[in-house]
Amino acid sequence: MEKQAAYAILTDHLKAQGKLRATPERFAILDAVLQSQGHFDVEALYYRLITNGVKVSKATVYNTLELLQECGLVSKYRFAENTSRYEKAFGRPHHHHMICLNCGDIIEFTNDRLERIQEEVAAGEDFSIQSTTIQIFGTCSKCTKK
Ligand SMILES: [Zn+2]
Ligand SMILES: [Zn+2]
Repeated sequence: MEKQAAYAILTDHLKAQGKLRATPERFAILDAVLQSQGHFDVEALYYRLITNGVKVSKATVYNTLELLQECGLVSKYRFAENTSRYEKAFGRPHHHHMICLNCGDIIEFTNDRLERIQEEVAAGEDFSIQSTTIQIFGTCSKCTKK
């Protein structure tokens, strides 16, 4: 089950870090992430937790998201704005983003040819890829039609 597998990944990561305790707040934050859709910022996740009666500080939400990123449960992006955006990475295929600078819409895409080109480019430099993300900024079709 998704939830148990994700819990195990976080538990192992906390253990490996040694000094970090597996507090219920961290798992409540993980739950909220697993239930999330799309690309959210710290504020939105914090607000959702508080609304659901979870007592956490914004600092805990922030550093737990960093932990979830370290163990691959969450991806972190910096799109057009100054705040970081996060999204659930667990159980989701690798993908890239097109960002509309007018309405802020985020369109996800995958492309096998693009993946191969990235591998080719990296191989040419003897570079071993850990992760890649492509962001295309511009105007979406809805905004173009206006
Ligand atoms: Zn748009
Ligand atoms: Zn995405």
